[in-house]
Amino acid sequence: GEGLPRPEQTRIMVVANQKGGVGKTTTTVNLAASLALHGARVLVIDLDPQGNASTALGIDHHAEVPSIYDVVVESKPLSDVVQPVPDVEGLFCAPATIDLAGAEIELVSLVARESRLQRAIQAYEQPLDYILIDCPPSLGLLTVNALVAGAEVLIPIQCEYYALEGLGQLLRNVDLVRGHLNPSLHVSTILLTMYDGRTRLASQVAEEVRGHFGDEVLRTSIPRSVRISEAPSYGQTVLTYDPGSSGSLSYLEAAREIALRGVGVHYDPQHAHAGG
Ligand code: ADP
Ligand code: MG
Repeated sequence: GEGLPRPEQTRIMVVANQKGGVGKTTTTVNLAASLALHGARVLVIDLDPQGNASTALGIDHHAEVPSIYDVVVESKPLSDVVQPVPDVEGLFCAPATIDLAGAEIELVSLVARESRLQRAIQAYEQPLDYILIDCPPSLGLLTVNALVAGAEVLIPIQCEYYALEGLGQLLRNVDLVRGHLNPSLHVSTILLTMYDGRTRLASQVAEEVRGHFGDEVLRTSIPRSVRISEAPSYGQTVLTYDPGSSGSLSYLEAAREIALRGVGVHYDPQHAHAGG
């Protein structure tokens, strides 16, 4: 990797948007791989019962595999379920199995139901630069657990009609969690995904999002790319599936921008170079 500055403390980023199909999982795994290729140690926590992040990282997550369900519901240590991601040094994954589908209901009657993931992360002793949490497309107790555990919210926004619709609900939940459970929580990063610069719609949506969120929006956006959507079926991120593709370069660049912001270094896209 090219050795970007590392954060002083582990940055815990919650990738959330209650809309499905906006690029949460794609962003989680590709950004995580990019940060690892830049030299960071990164853990992906798959908090979606679908287990798409686990699949995309090539991590076994059939029903018997120790998983994030065991951590959140059964209070198992996180270290019991974390697996190294094949082919990407410094990248790890806590997989989700289908068990997690029941967790929303099971959590309701458990003590400290909102802070079980936070406790597990606090007890995890391996050194990490980043933890990226891939949330399900809902605002239930699993997403609340992620919002209590993290400090930063990363919202992927698809450059489509109704891109901002429903975001108010997510932002209100972030405010609620900040007010009651996690004072450090804030929306730190907005990433425009599936951006098609040839369409007027995409640039209009991008403009609207930048007008609404300002500096939180990364300068780098992620293009719509077939290579990005093909990679998961090979159990790979686009970074290993097609390293030179526009999708790879854009995620590497987004990772660089996030890393530089984290240490307060001005990001200059004019000198942008995407290389691993
Ligand atoms: P979410 O996790 O928010 O439901 P996903 O990350 O699973 O969304 O993405 C939804 C679909 O869009 C997937 O089929 C994925 O492969 C595809 N996709 C995501 N980002 C891109 C992109 N930049 N270019 C092309 N396809 C993409
Ligand atoms: Mg997903």
